[in-house]
Amino acid sequence: MPEGDTIAYAAHRMRPVLAGHVPESIRTPHPRHAMDRWPERLAGRAISEIRTHGKHLFVCFEGDLVIHSHLRMTGSWRVYPPGTGPRPPRSPRLAWLVLTRAGHEVVQFNGPVLELLTESRTRFDQRLSALGPDVLDAEFDAAAFLARLRSDDPTRGIGDALLDQRNVAGIGNIWKCEGCWEAAIDPWRRVSAVTDEEAMAIISAIRPRMAHSARHGRMDRNPQVSRRAGRPCPRCGATVMARGQGDDNRTTFWCPGCQR
Ligand SMILES: [Zn+2]
Repeated sequence: MPEGDTIAYAAHRMRPVLAGHVPESIRTPHPRHAMDRWPERLAGRAISEIRTHGKHLFVCFEGDLVIHSHLRMTGSWRVYPPGTGPRPPRSPRLAWLVLTRAGHEVVQFNGPVLELLTESRTRFDQRLSALGPDVLDAEFDAAAFLARLRSDDPTRGIGDALLDQRNVAGIGNIWKCEGCWEAAIDPWRRVSAVTDEEAMAIISAIRPRMAHSARHGRMDRNPQVSRRAGRPCPRCGATVMARGQGDDNRTTFWCPGCQR
């Protein structure tokens, strides 16, 4: 599942192509959007900005219209320089949105959340207004994060709580595991037994790594415990474990030797 850094990286690649410009064409090949008339509604409008909050991406057009995207498990954004275009295995038929400008194609594949909203709707939409502070925000709002964490179920494991986008937006399963490992905190420890300093140590550990990935792409993540079950911990040599956690049973990777 794409995490906040992957979404920020997509926005980083899209901005030079689209921000400040009127797209030359807007297409919605997927049948789901055939009746929505986005090309007509957005025709002639410049894209004023492309912004992200956690795993959500917003393409903002002049005149108060915003395309809101969330990739969930299946979707992706791709930016194709001139002369390339969608190639297998990403069939053009799987494209939900294609924006072209100056020979570039910006393509959103496989949805699954892609909708045209007004700017004011994005502020009052319950799904969006409930989001916690963005982990990648240059001025991360630690007070808001801690207040939300303290109002969450205190019996919940800290690893599970970090995945809840209402506590902090942008952390997915990999960064949850990496953050707990870097801060040497057991992801199964109850939130009530994690101090504010420990919770912030997790956030502080992953912010620079996520920011680097947001700038350079996800290949630079270099995981220490994620997907390394059965291998030795890089810090203490104990065997890395894996087990499903939380309501969604997301696999948590951790080292029982040095994470307490
Ligand atoms: Zn260890």
